[in-house]
Amino acid sequence: MTRVLLATRNAKKLGELQRILGEQVTVLGLGDVAEFPEEPETGATFEENAVAKAVQAAAATGEISLADDSGLSVDALNGMPGVLSARWAGRHGDDPANNALLLAQLGDVPDDRRGADFVCALALAVPGAEPIVRRGDWRGRIVRESNGGNGFGYDPLFVPVESDEAGDGRTSAQLAPAEKDRLSHRGRAIVSMLPELKVALGLA
Ligand code: IMP
Repeated sequence: MTRVLLATRNAKKLGELQRILGEQVTVLGLGDVAEFPEEPETGATFEENAVAKAVQAAAATGEISLADDSGLSVDALNGMPGVLSARWAGRHGDDPANNALLLAQLGDVPDDRRGADFVCALALAVPGAEPIVRRGDWRGRIVRESNGGNGFGYDPLFVPVESDEAGDGRTSAQLAPAEKDRLSHRGRAIVSMLPELKVALGLA
């Protein structure tokens, strides 16, 4: 069976990749392979972090490996929180604190300057070959109050352009998971990597 390692323990990310790749490919997570020391994410860009994680996973396991790095880039904050998105309020993965801090920082920013992008860099590392990286961007704006219970992270604060075009103003936390997969930065990065991934897996 053809398989690929996605260097994450996040079940949502693993499920999303598995849905996109279908039954021909088995998606493994870090919980499915022998443990190896994971280095901290210290890159200045999403691309650097994604490549470092994918190369490390491929070297340690010998598996064809994918890794992603993602975050929110806010216009009025000159692109921050960026690679610091997960620990913007100081503690890694504290979503409520990160969201509260972002709302406070943007308190006086007017509605027409609240644009932001979710960004995802996805890297593919085949043992012994040069890594490849692809990027997905999802444009939207930051609202003034949290809305919605789906998703994670900054989702309750982010209204994608597609929601404004539809006239419903739903945040990405108000989209159904499949709707979000279809539009999101991560979904776009995966789709743009598909040709290279299929070649690497011998499916093209
Ligand atoms: P990671 O790449 O999974 O480590 O994500 C980094 C951080 O970026 C997360 O902790 C979230 O704060 C934010 N982030 C990345 N993707 C999303 C998303 O799809 N929705 C909401 N927040 C996200």
